[in-house]
Amino acid sequence: MSERVRLIVFGRQGAGKGTQCTRLAAHYGVPHISTGDMLRAAVRDGTAFGLKAKEYMDAGRLLPDDIMVGLVAERLAHHDAREGWLLDGFPRTTGQAEALVAVTGDESFSMAVNLDVPEEVVIERISSRRVCALDSSHIYSVSRPPKVPGVCDVCGGEVVQRADDTASAVRERLDLYQAETAPLIDWFESRGKLVTVDGNNDPDAVTAALVAAIDAHRAE
Ligand code: ADP
Repeated sequence: MSERVRLIVFGRQGAGKGTQCTRLAAHYGVPHISTGDMLRAAVRDGTAFGLKAKEYMDAGRLLPDDIMVGLVAERLAHHDAREGWLLDGFPRTTGQAEALVAVTGDESFSMAVNLDVPEEVVIERISSRRVCALDSSHIYSVSRPPKVPGVCDVCGGEVVQRADDTASAVRERLDLYQAETAPLIDWFESRGKLVTVDGNNDPDAVTAALVAAIDAHRAE
């Protein structure tokens, strides 16, 4: 199977998408494109766009579809995404999914993986999640802390709680998931592109289940 994959990974906040997508991208040799990480990088850089994005993110709201579609279309045009990609956090509305298909045409996604974890489990996980302030794709938790307390193992950045991981923003984000993103399950299913994997397990077991399910769908 030499052809590269074009993967969408979605699921509730705190389902483990960031951790699993980093592993999957390395496994399949494709760039990991996380819209959340891209937005947090813009916030950290203090660009005008980043300041605007921060207002939405801190409130736990979604950015407008047209802005997100522009951001992702631009990223997918980079050379490293020519032969495959993994999208983490996009699309998260059916409008975004339709726009993605319109932008990518024949090179559209191969499948969409729903990393399935019940709401009560993700609430618990998010409250203990910690990330590197320099690169939010470096993820820790209260029970899986960095080796030196408060210091990122990968890059030495400060390990902090995400601004949108407060209890009220989490509630808002989970409600939005139910209203805006959960309808994508039927959208992908009706196109024969849905793969569901149980994410309520230890990280290595989830990775193994993801690879098995993705490879099985590719072989179909
Ligand atoms: P989570 O899934 O835990 O909310 P992300 O890191 O994926 O975390 O996203 C953080 C925030 O960035 C979202 O709450 C939202 O404000 C914004 N965001 C990310 N991706 C999108 C998207 N596809 N559409 C709209 N807003 C987005």
